[in-house]
Amino acid sequence: MMKKRLFTPGPISVPEEVLLEMAKPIIHHRTPEFLEIAQKVVENLKYFFQTKNDVFIIAGSGTAAMEAAVVNVLSPGEKAIVISGGKFGERFVEIVKAYGCIPFVIEPGWGNDVDIAIVEQTLKQNPDIKAVYGTLVETSTATAYNIKGLGKLISDFPETIFVVDGISGLGAVECRTDDWNIDILVSGSQKALSLPPGLSFISVSEKAWRKIASSKLPKYYLDLKKYKKAMEKFDFPFTMAVSLVIGLNKSLEIIKQKGLENLWKIHRKRALATRKAAEAMGLKIFSKSPADAVTAIILPEGIDGEKFCSDLRKEFGMSVAGGQDRLKGKVIRISHFGWQDEFDTISVVAAIEIMLNKYNFRVELGNGVKEAMKVLFGN
Ligand code: PMP
Repeated sequence: MMKKRLFTPGPISVPEEVLLEMAKPIIHHRTPEFLEIAQKVVENLKYFFQTKNDVFIIAGSGTAAMEAAVVNVLSPGEKAIVISGGKFGERFVEIVKAYGCIPFVIEPGWGNDVDIAIVEQTLKQNPDIKAVYGTLVETSTATAYNIKGLGKLISDFPETIFVVDGISGLGAVECRTDDWNIDILVSGSQKALSLPPGLSFISVSEKAWRKIASSKLPKYYLDLKKYKKAMEKFDFPFTMAVSLVIGLNKSLEIIKQKGLENLWKIHRKRALATRKAAEAMGLKIFSKSPADAVTAIILPEGIDGEKFCSDLRKEFGMSVAGGQDRLKGKVIRISHFGWQDEFDTISVVAAIEIMLNKYNFRVELGNGVKEAMKVLFGN
C-alpha cells in the first residue's frame, strides 16, 4: 500500500498519539470518567478559541455548528449580513435563506478581503440587521479576512452580533475571540485540530445569549440552550461521539504544549514557503489576501486540475484539493494546518514540480523546493 499523504484542507493526517487514544476501549458517555475528560476538553477548547465564553461541542461536521449559529440566533424574516467570498460564505447565505431569514449578501469577490466600509454603511442603513456572518479563512479561495476589524466595527452596534466561521482557520491563523469581539465562533475537528471529521464547536458570548433568548427559529438537536444546561455538569444533551472527544483531549494537549502563538508562526512559515515555491515555479497564487491555513495555486493554462490532483494521489499517494465551483479544474489547494512538518511542505512542493513536468509544463526540478527550504530553514 502506498503511504498516504494528506494535504487537503481537511481532513488531514491524525497524529499517532491521537489515533492510539481513540483506539482504546469505548466508555459510556455519562460516566464520571468521560465527564472528567469532557471538563478538561472544554477548558482547553476555551484556550484554543481564546475565549472565556461558553464553548460547546456538537457531534456533527462543521456545517452543524454553522447551522446552530443561525437557528439559535435569528427569527423568521429577520435580516443578517453575510460576507460571502467563496463557497463557504455562500453556505451561510443558503442556511439563512433555508430558515426564511433575509441575507444581505456582501460579496468582496473571490480571493479578496472585505471592505469594512461597505459593512459599516450597510449596518448604518439597516438598523434592524441582527447579525453579521463572516469567515476567518475561506477555504475555497484560500483567503483570509480582516476579522479583527469587523469585530471592532460590529461591537459598536449593540443589537447586532458577529458570527465567524473559523472552521478552517482556527488554530492555524491568529484569531482572538474575546479581544476581537467575536460573539459566535464555529470550528470543526478535521482541520487544525488534526482529528478525524465529525465534531464541531461553537462559542457563545453574553451578547449572543441575549439574541438566543429571543430567537424563534425552529431547532431541536442544535438548540444551544440544551447544550448550556447539560454543560453545567460538563455533560452533553445527546450521545456524544466519545472516541472523538477522547482524541480531542489529546490533540488539545499537544496544541497547548506547542502554544497557539507558535502554531500561528509555524503555519505562516509553511504558507510562505509554499507561496515562494509557487512563484519560483512560475505559478501565481489565487488569493489577493492569502491565508496561512491553505494556499490555492493557479495551474498553468491547459492543465486539468482535477486530473492533476488525481494523478498526484495515484502516483505519489499525495492528496491535495482541486478547485470548487468556478475554480474547478483551475487551481490546486494545499493545506498547511494540522499534523505536518517542514519536510511535508517540501515534499508536496517536490511532487508538484515533478507532476508539472509530466504535464509538459517545464519547471527546473528543485527550483520550488529550494525557495521553500530557504523560508523553512533559512535565517
Ligand atoms: N466552512 C469552511 C471555511 C470550511 O472549510 C468547511 C469545510 N471545508 C466548512 C465550512 C464545512 O464544514 P464541514 O464540511 O465539516 O461540514
